[in-house]
Amino acid sequence: MQLLTLFDNHNRPINYLRLAVTDRCNLRCFYCMPEEGIHYLLRKELLTFEEIHRLVSLMASMGITKVRLTGGEPFVRTDLMKLIRSIVEIPGIQDLHLTTNGILTSAFIPELKKLGIASVNLSLDTLDRERFKTITRRDEFEPVMKTLDQLLKQEIPVKINAVVMDGKNTDDILPLIELTRNHKVDVRFIEEMPFNGEGSHYPVLNWTYKKIVRYIQEHHPGLQKIHDAANSTSYNYTIPGYTGTIGVIAAFSRTFCGTCNRIRLTAQGVLKTCLYDNGVLDIKTLLRSGATDDEIREKLLYAFRHRAQDGFEAEAKRSDHLPVHESMSTIGG
Ligand code: SAM
Ligand code: SF4
Repeated sequence: MQLLTLFDNHNRPINYLRLAVTDRCNLRCFYCMPEEGIHYLLRKELLTFEEIHRLVSLMASMGITKVRLTGGEPFVRTDLMKLIRSIVEIPGIQDLHLTTNGILTSAFIPELKKLGIASVNLSLDTLDRERFKTITRRDEFEPVMKTLDQLLKQEIPVKINAVVMDGKNTDDILPLIELTRNHKVDVRFIEEMPFNGEGSHYPVLNWTYKKIVRYIQEHHPGLQKIHDAANSTSYNYTIPGYTGTIGVIAAFSRTFCGTCNRIRLTAQGVLKTCLYDNGVLDIKTLLRSGATDDEIREKLLYAFRHRAQDGFEAEAKRSDHLPVHESMSTIGG
């Protein structure tokens, strides 16, 4: 298949779709969701698998080559594997990735391996069971560790996502780094963003990416900068003699917008061309109004050619005139 390269209005290639398949989740990570009072979407408000397949096929015909399934927790969606099997068959989709909290994941790892999953991002903010319970508000540490073990055994490329939370898990930075000593794993420390469904809960971000890197350097003076892949959102490092790598993601400081190649589809079927916008195209309504493939492509192209330059501009231009406040579980991270 002839691959096209699609560029946005800032000359950034667009080839990566992050798709939230559900807003539901079996954890309640406090930085992502409120503890109670969550209004989940109704089943009919989610895109069906047929709609997702059509949309991904259309996007693949425009130049999307990489898809990440996320959520909410993707494995909470019934028959997720059915969707995965259908997406890997779409001509032009070269890489399928998953972001998961790992609770229900381990049973599906052999099939994911067989289907050629490109990588799995596993969210794990702490290696301490009690702290895990406090952060996620659920006692589910063991199944997550089982998933990590299985992913490593099956040699599926695995990245661990750890949100760095002031006063909550900064003591976990060094133990998480130790995982990279003997395992081929990429541990990524993410700046906390105000996407917790309740509005911002810190006036200033204390643990910025600079502070995280400084902290690691203080404890590992040999920390070495390594090459950052094109369109990478992380600054990447390794410790001499260690097998894995360490990434630091300036998700709140937004230093990576200049090379951002990502678009997002929320659980409600809304297109976001930046994590910080509040949606630029209601694709679900478009799909359900009987639009032809060409009409949908035209609207997508318009959205791709009118992207904000960076996350600050996207946030300033939100049509709800509010700072970001929604839950990451509807956006997909
Ligand atoms: N449930 C899956 C999981 O936790 O991996 C997938 C969805 S989750 C929303 C995707 C990623 O977003 C996770 O790695 C999570 O840590 C990250 N995330 C959620 N809320 C965040 C926040 N407020 N700041 C930074 N990262 C956040
Ligand atoms: Fe669920 Fe993932 Fe959000 Fe945690 S970060 S509440 S696991 S969607």
